[in-house]
Amino acid sequence: MSDDLVLRSRRVVTDAGEVPAAVRVREGHIVAVEGYDTPGEDLGDLALLPGLVDSHVHVNEPGRTEWEGFATATRSAAAGGVTTIVDMPLNSLPPTVSVGALAAKRAAAAGRCHVDVGFWGGAVPDHLGDLPALYDAGVFGFKCFLVDSGVPEFPPLDAAGLEAALRAVPALFVVHAEDAGAIRPLPATRSYARFVASRPAEAEHRAVEQVVAAARRAGARVHVLHLSSAGALDLLERARRDGVRVTVETCPHYLAFAAEDVPDGATQFKCCPPIRDRANREALWQGLARGTIDAVVSDHSPCPPALKRAGSGDFAAAWGGISSLQLGLPVVWTHARARGHGLADVARWMSQRPAEIAGLPGKGRIAVGYDADLVAFAPDEPLAVEPAMLRHRHKLTPYAGASLTGVVHTTWLRGTPVDGQPRGRLLTREAG
Ligand SMILES: [Zn+2]
Repeated sequence: MSDDLVLRSRRVVTDAGEVPAAVRVREGHIVAVEGYDTPGEDLGDLALLPGLVDSHVHVNEPGRTEWEGFATATRSAAAGGVTTIVDMPLNSLPPTVSVGALAAKRAAAAGRCHVDVGFWGGAVPDHLGDLPALYDAGVFGFKCFLVDSGVPEFPPLDAAGLEAALRAVPALFVVHAEDAGAIRPLPATRSYARFVASRPAEAEHRAVEQVVAAARRAGARVHVLHLSSAGALDLLERARRDGVRVTVETCPHYLAFAAEDVPDGATQFKCCPPIRDRANREALWQGLARGTIDAVVSDHSPCPPALKRAGSGDFAAAWGGISSLQLGLPVVWTHARARGHGLADVARWMSQRPAEIAGLPGKGRIAVGYDADLVAFAPDEPLAVEPAMLRHRHKLTPYAGASLTGVVHTTWLRGTPVDGQPRGRLLTREAG
């Protein structure tokens, strides 16, 4: 049909790997993957990837829109090749812990989104009774903490609360896995090493053990968010072999940076759990290579620069969160290819698996029937990260000045290039 959009590339990333092909799009969907000789728009040597699915983004609107908002977050997402985000339930006011709060989120997002947006609900002690109705209202699952979240309106669950939540609704639970009992008080300090020592790997290991045990008892499906310590991978592998339904993600900053290289006072690197040492970073890459780690997502969690305490460089007082939504693809690609991985690996970690885990059946693959969410990516083009190029509300990021490889040229959302018109849809979980 002449109205079809046909995109041709010598490097289309499909389930068969990287192949020369033409992708035929009709009414927003991929309707065929044809031979490269098919007439159409020729991308030449630009690779064509499925749009990234970033299931871990803190948009913060409404209530803390001065930190980040739907318009800025989704524009930066599109600029970085991300075509779907799933918004975290905390840091906005109200947090997404009830049907009314979800309605407030959706109202804040409506008409402002440049990519598709779904929502996680929150599981907090006083709102466990809200979980079934919130699930029915379309959230993709529930986030909870086992440690202070950083904001008072989103308190953690204790062991009994976690198990009660898992039993309250047959949903996916995504868990910030650090155990409060293993975290040490941190006096004011500019020392990155002291900050890391206050949040030891042991805190992650104990929390992952607790989550796995609760999932096993409740027969629930759980997902470990932003794994930093590779020491937990054996435990996760054993749990899966035993039939526990557990998946795990890590983030670009744990794969790109190492504690030894973080300067004292450089609070733009502060996140929880913290970036650990070089040997740990390589062990995370091995976990990705053997498939233990399912997904790589941003955990984009910005704040106004003043809250990062750049002046004092105090790791104790600085907000914990790294800003990176626009940069995940070139960061991960740069470091992945240095370790022998291909674009198909990156697409599996950053598109396919996050979509499968969150439950987004039409997203994350270049295949017939999927949404035509696509990215033209120049895998060999250098990218010098300058704050001015970032569409995030705030430009402070540990990637400033980084020399990366890989540039996003065009992002299509359901077959239409993202061009400044907010065409993103608000997604709801498909029942069943
Ligand atoms: Zn987060």
